[in-house]
Amino acid sequence: LQQQAEQLREEASRDPLTGVLNRRAFMLTLERHLQAHAASGQPLGLIMADIDRFKSFNDEYGHLLGDQVLRIVGKRLREASKEGITAYRLGGEEFAILVPNRALALTRQMAESLRRIIERMSILDRKSGRRIDHITASFGVGEYSGQETGDSLVERTDKLLYKAKELGRNRVMPLPS
Ligand code: GH3
Ligand code: MG
Ligand code: MG
Repeated sequence: LQQQAEQLREEASRDPLTGVLNRRAFMLTLERHLQAHAASGQPLGLIMADIDRFKSFNDEYGHLLGDQVLRIVGKRLREASKEGITAYRLGGEEFAILVPNRALALTRQMAESLRRIIERMSILDRKSGRRIDHITASFGVGEYSGQETGDSLVERTDKLLYKAKELGRNRVMPLPS
């Protein structure tokens, strides 16, 4: 029974398509990290990512191949999850990564490395036999200020992601300082 309860909890927090944690888990863990910040000043970084022009991708290659892209991106984000770092699918083609206890510059580097991993992805379109290798994503990177709510951190980081889109996509904002 205990095992079943554990499994139900696990299912309630994971996105079935990509295997990464879901929005609900994101909200809960963000809250936990903010409490840790209040108690001990532990820094918290947030990476938000959104796949570029994904609507056109679906239109051109079909929704099933789009799902395949989401699965692979999910897998790459799961591989990046270690040492307290956790990845989430917030919805659609939007992902978030919570990065506790790292300097902002390191969190930014991590976003940059994920950006490159996605840019280098290549998947086979079985219908046409062609390789698709122009999948990209845009990123915003934020750090909890201690003087704000979790929602405000998410909103600020999302604005940076939007800025990355505006500037031409396939990039991380802010630029390294
Ligand atoms: P932008 O570069 O500005 O982000 O453009 P976009 O086309 O990625 O953004 P938009 O928000 O217009 O479209 C998001 C698309 O993501 C639309 C929707 O069809 C697709 N999408 C969302 N969830 C899924 C999913 O689970 N599977 C597939 N295949 N597509 C999805
Ligand atoms: Mg989007
Ligand atoms: Mg998008």
